Amino acid sequence: MGLSAAAKEKPVKSSKKKSPVRKGQKQAIATERRCSIASTVGILSDAWAFLVIREAFFGAKRFEEFRSGLEITRATLTDRLRRLVHEGIMREFPYSSTLSRVEYKLTKAGIELYPMFMSMMQFGDRWLETSKSGPLQLIHESCNCVSKPIVTCSCCEQRFSARDVSYVDGPGAGRIPAEAPRRSRRTADDFMRGRPSSVSRTLEVIGDRWSFLILREAFYGHTRFDQVHSELGIATNILTDRLARLVDHGVFRKEMYQDAPERYEYLLTPMGADLHGPLLMIMAWGDRWRSQGRPPMLLRHDACEKIFTPVVVCNRCGEAISAFSMKYRMRYNPEKFGGRKSSRAVPGRI
Ligand SMILES: [Zn+2]
Ligand SMILES: [Zn+2]
Repeated sequence: MGLSAAAKEKPVKSSKKKSPVRKGQKQAIATERRCSIASTVGILSDAWAFLVIREAFFGAKRFEEFRSGLEITRATLTDRLRRLVHEGIMREFPYSSTLSRVEYKLTKAGIELYPMFMSMMQFGDRWLETSKSGPLQLIHESCNCVSKPIVTCSCCEQRFSARDVSYVDGPGAGRIPAEAPRRSRRTADDFMRGRPSSVSRTLEVIGDRWSFLILREAFYGHTRFDQVHSELGIATNILTDRLARLVDHGVFRKEMYQDAPERYEYLLTPMGADLHGPLLMIMAWGDRWRSQGRPPMLLRHDACEKIFTPVVVCNRCGEAISAFSMKYRMRYNPEKFGGRKSSRAVPGRI
């Protein structure tokens, strides 16, 4: 059944979760919207897992390459690699006659994270970079141009904004028992290891499960504290903390809509609204790899009136991009970050 399948996606030990439902209420179980964003952010909100995937896109394959590139402890790396293999993002390949020697490579599902990463990278370059340009310059091989990928509608191939998209229940729509948050503690530089990265900068802003979900609610039009609180069943102190962070980072602006008692709503700034594309890419990946063919929600592009999937394309030639059609040039000296110095473009990596 759908429920057990959804539960299987996340191999997390059930922890004692504080249910928002009071004790006396028998059988009342907190539920949450079934959602492909929620089922994907588990991967992205674990900074180590994200960094291991990122290094794989940069060509790391062997345990020592990941370890030295990220200065990660052996135990943590072993745990994350095992988890990524379990989740179908990476696969082990023996590379020597000694059976215990394996390389780790991205699976098809792993490689398909690339467009999502690209959309987050472009967001990071646009809004979070202090220098004029981001750490990497992308070159699209098909058109041989410097490329800044954009998110477009699969039907009309045009760009869209949050205002042009309506949400329609899909075949997997419904509610499931609310999941306990994995780990809500986070430190500011969790994602900023190994090398300068605009994807890391983006995840630094939105990269914990609650921030993703609060943002999702904003795109559904739930902007008031109480609405978000009841939709997500989130503890008020955590919600207050995450909203304050998102305001600090410039994703929301806080406005009072009632003064006695004081009540606030959290409205997306232009920067916050620009997270729509990355968020839909996260949803699209989850729909494809985590929904068993039953996406909980469909997207309708109001301009072309069609149900669509978001596609990341080259802004120069309009072709959908993949990890295999992109090269990059580093705008930083990788030697400073323990890597090899190379100004050559290397295929298929971010
Ligand atoms: Zn369209
Ligand atoms: Zn192109």
